[in-house]
Amino acid sequence: MNIHQIDSQQLNNKQTPFYYYDLQLLNETIASVKRAADRRGFHVHYALKANFNKRIVKHIQSAGFGADCVSGNEVQFAIDNGFPASQITFAGAGKSDAEIRTALQHKIFAFNVESIQELEVINELAGESGVTAHVSLRINPNVDAHTHHYITTGLDENKFGVPNSELEQAAAVLRNCAHIQLLGLHFHVGSQITDMNVFKSLCVKVNEWKNWFEERGTQIKVLNVGGGLGVDYHQPDEQPIADFEAYFEVFDKFLERESYQEVHFELGRALVAQCGTLVSRVLYTKSGVKTNFLVLDAGMTELMRPALYQAYHKIEKIGALPDSTPINYDVVGPICESSDCFGKNVSLPSAQRGDLIAIRTAGAYGEVMASGYNLRNEIRYVYSDEIGHS
Ligand SMILES: *Cc1c(COP(=O)(O)O)cnc(C)c1O
Repeated sequence: MNIHQIDSQQLNNKQTPFYYYDLQLLNETIASVKRAADRRGFHVHYALKANFNKRIVKHIQSAGFGADCVSGNEVQFAIDNGFPASQITFAGAGKSDAEIRTALQHKIFAFNVESIQELEVINELAGESGVTAHVSLRINPNVDAHTHHYITTGLDENKFGVPNSELEQAAAVLRNCAHIQLLGLHFHVGSQITDMNVFKSLCVKVNEWKNWFEERGTQIKVLNVGGGLGVDYHQPDEQPIADFEAYFEVFDKFLERESYQEVHFELGRALVAQCGTLVSRVLYTKSGVKTNFLVLDAGMTELMRPALYQAYHKIEKIGALPDSTPINYDVVGPICESSDCFGKNVSLPSAQRGDLIAIRTAGAYGEVMASGYNLRNEIRYVYSDEIGHS
């Protein structure tokens, strides 16, 4: 149930701020991904970091997706929450020895290895434990994701993956790593990518590097192309489910894969972003010299994306009358930082103390980034099936 379909009295009784999760939309999104991926024999891992709220994860795990982890604790969490180890990948430019040991112990599907030094460390730790580590080599393909520079990861100047210039050396090191088996190649060029040409360019690079390795006698079984598919933050209700058909079709069409090659994806945002809304209450209205402010009871401590990378979220008043005259507000939080602002010059129906405000498309990188800065209360959440219909 969409946030505007709920009886506002029911919402009014809840203590704010809280995340509202529309489980029906989540399930429809999951079904849509599954349909489009299964049709092509593609493997999907859910990037846990986008949202590890227990019920959200349960729905995704039940659909049979794997888990893409970026910390040892996420690997452990994935195991504890029912993901088979054989479907767990572990990426990250800074895996600690303890984290590597955790993943080795669980015999996960693959480490996505981000540097030559990391290869050597994994080889050593695997040797000590008497196991073989399965790895995919994360290649930095130098593809511009045309997204915000804070969420671009596949350019030469980014810290992720092995740069092209070091692949020759990486291949040589791999030949000497007795405790490592190379499964395949891994790529992840950025997040919130809406231009399908970016993925097309990625496919060209994947084909090139796959051939490069195979020409040197290394068979590549796994092509892991990462995640990054974007969602529509501006119009959450027009296209609540991303176009997974079009997304997977690009890879189906442009990846040159052999019958023994598997294609793996690591989707985070596109699965969970639209099902979450941050619901907050207006504490104060303030008319400044040039600006009208709405001061909310939620801030950057509940949703950090606007402060962290100037991300846009659609802001709406809940239960607004259709004929209310709009006013331009700067919508801000209570935290003692000027960057604690959800939106400037937002046109909203006139609002007053106690009104409820919805901050949309907050299901990905929202609740999970909540912090205790200013000793804020722990974040709350409400699921759609806990609320009656209007
Ligand atoms: C964050 C991350 C993802 C998921 O990215 P989305 O943009 O949320 O789809 C996938 N793979 C890796 C390695 C990541 O770090």
